[in-house]
Amino acid sequence: MNRHSQYILLQWIAIFVISLTMALQPLWTGDPDEEKMYEQQERTWLFDESIVGKYAQIHGQQPDPESESELSGEEYLQNLKMQASELRAVHSDEGYKAITALISPEHPLPPDYIPENMSVLGTRAYDGAMMRAEAAEALERLMADAEANGQILYVISVYRSYALQERLHNGYIASMGRAAAENESAPPGASEHQSGLAVDLSCESVGHDLVEAFENTPEGRWVAEHAWQYGFIVRYPKDKTHKTGYGYEPWHLRYIGVEMAQLIHETGLTLEELYEE
Ligand SMILES: [Zn+2]
Repeated sequence: MNRHSQYILLQWIAIFVISLTMALQPLWTGDPDEEKMYEQQERTWLFDESIVGKYAQIHGQQPDPESESELSGEEYLQNLKMQASELRAVHSDEGYKAITALISPEHPLPPDYIPENMSVLGTRAYDGAMMRAEAAEALERLMADAEANGQILYVISVYRSYALQERLHNGYIASMGRAAAENESAPPGASEHQSGLAVDLSCESVGHDLVEAFENTPEGRWVAEHAWQYGFIVRYPKDKTHKTGYGYEPWHLRYIGVEMAQLIHETGLTLEELYEE
């Protein structure tokens, strides 16, 4: 190779290295123009967000539909009551026989009321345990799904006649006095068990008893979390004894239909709060 050829080759190598350097430059230094563009975009985005927030503040609208609880407490409650009364209206012609009926000492059932269309329960229930057919079918599904999840539930009490409730209630009064009895047991006519829509559940680890400790068993936790999916609610919650008039009963479920059960499960409101106040 003569001197001239060497010179040409060096020239080509120099051109190649310079081109490569220019081509790769943005990879390690970043393109200043591009960076500025991103910065600007980010500022615009932040600006837009604050506009949305301001607009919402001024017009009293919620930018995020999930933050419904930020509505004023009163508006929120009215909204829920409206939903409850719409759900209730579907069964309004059935009166006290409706699956959504409020049954309490203030709203008792007639002494001679015996629900029609009851079915006998077949799974881990006592002889002659009966519920309204719709509730029985939902309870069998609940118990089967709980079992598939390893939770074995037992039916302790379902339909009770007016006469049986009267004997039970009188028994409570005799053993603990009237005031305590009224917190523990419903007077005849006021028990949801007469409606064929209530069930008391328990499990082996609490000796199949109806006790608060059921709440902390795997079975009790499963019930608290999933019962609404089958149309049942925990009717007498822990923090609502001043609303329901009854002590906490994690074992007592009331069938009320899936939509109402979901509303009650998600809001933590009682039937008294949704229907009455
Ligand atoms: Zn009960």
